[in-house]
Amino acid sequence: MAEQQKIVILGAGESGVGSAILALKLGFEVFVSDFGAIADKYKSQLSARGIRFEELQHTEAEILSAHEVIKSPGIPDKAPIVKKIIEKGIRIVSEIEFAGRYNKAKTICITGSNGKTTTTMLTYHILQKAGLNVGLAGNVGQSFAKQVAEDNYDYYVLELSSFQLDNMYEFKADIAILLNITPDHLDRYDYKMQNYVDSKFRVTQNQTSADAFIYCLDDEETMKVMANNKFEARLFPFSLAQKVEQGAYATEDTIYIQTNKNNFNMTISELALQGKHNVNNSMAAGIAAKLLEIRSDSLRESLGDFQNVPHRLEHVARIQGIEFINDSKATNVNSVWFALESMNTKVVWIAGGVDKGNDYSMLYELVKDKVKAIVCLGKDNKKIHDAFDDKVEIIVNTASAEEAVNVAYHLATKGDTVLLSPACASFDLFKSYEDRGDQFKAAVKEL
Ligand code: ADP
Repeated sequence: MAEQQKIVILGAGESGVGSAILALKLGFEVFVSDFGAIADKYKSQLSARGIRFEELQHTEAEILSAHEVIKSPGIPDKAPIVKKIIEKGIRIVSEIEFAGRYNKAKTICITGSNGKTTTTMLTYHILQKAGLNVGLAGNVGQSFAKQVAEDNYDYYVLELSSFQLDNMYEFKADIAILLNITPDHLDRYDYKMQNYVDSKFRVTQNQTSADAFIYCLDDEETMKVMANNKFEARLFPFSLAQKVEQGAYATEDTIYIQTNKNNFNMTISELALQGKHNVNNSMAAGIAAKLLEIRSDSLRESLGDFQNVPHRLEHVARIQGIEFINDSKATNVNSVWFALESMNTKVVWIAGGVDKGNDYSMLYELVKDKVKAIVCLGKDNKKIHDAFDDKVEIIVNTASAEEAVNVAYHLATKGDTVLLSPACASFDLFKSYEDRGDQFKAAVKEL
């Protein structure tokens, strides 16, 4: 570099600090700025490398002298400092865009409104068990940039949220997976669904005929875009409803995967992940595996023995014949639909928290059919009452995980399921969805 270019990084979490480490290694002048407090772990990573940083403030003179800004996905474009950077015409990119310029490994990129983490972890598991030298990054695991700086993987499985995709321009995935698109985070997209859809479709941008795009044929929003645009990538749809030539589909009891010369099938009851949504996730990951020519016996074993991360339809305990399931990560209505759909018993449903503009109407049929009582777990439960008062006989308000579990336990009888699947964010009563799920599990263990 003739003149040392300056990179400013906004946000000093996993992604920001990873970007700083890579930028330093590449010889840039680096400055990290966080408007909040920086966790000790990250401060020491920065200090140890002599990277300059500030917390609890944004010093404009430092930031606006950048050649390029790497913005952490949590910071919205509406933030005053971001507006100023945009006004000044300084380019803003995401960690993945930045690190992607220097990455030589093949990437499998996974996005969608629901199922990202599950499918990312499953794909990673399949590749790892097949003996590939593979890293895990994006929304899960360690920063992609940090791994590009320090590791030497042949493949990366990347979980990408729409916020990460927003500041990606030149990046190209070798294999892109778009699981589904249902309304979420619309507050960050000017309440325009199209903006959110566009963001999700960035996962396939810049792909050529050497690359693959895996998507859900049954997803309405996805198919609207597919119908009206031309895509360069090789297309591999998956479906629960119709047979496909290339891609994957499921019959009542079997999934079939076909990619060029590779065929694979497996009985659904042998999949580790149960429920229709998980059949989709397994098919998507399975197509990626077959495209990477992973052997069928290895794929079969991995799809059969995968252990999902906690808080996603996680079995907690069976007490007096009552099954307790923790689905605390179900923070929107769509994921609750799949949770209820996969239940084959009567359900005492624990729901509520911070409403994200929920429209519960898609749950009416399932709730009438399966839910015998609703236990509300939130500060303000009015929307749940408004939606279900005429559909479910018993609706009770509770104000802690412990109270909710006790009430649910008394309402349930042998053979029922107590399902925590909140459809809402957790911040009214809990630190995070993990905290909510952990408190639920602890309360169940106390019974
Ligand atoms: P994400 O990372 O996209 O939030 P997770 O894998 O963490 O997705 O799952 C979040 C919630 O969505 C869980 O309640 C899970 O059971 C549900 N879910 C998982 N996969 C799907 C899918 N393909 N469609 C709908 N809901 C899903």
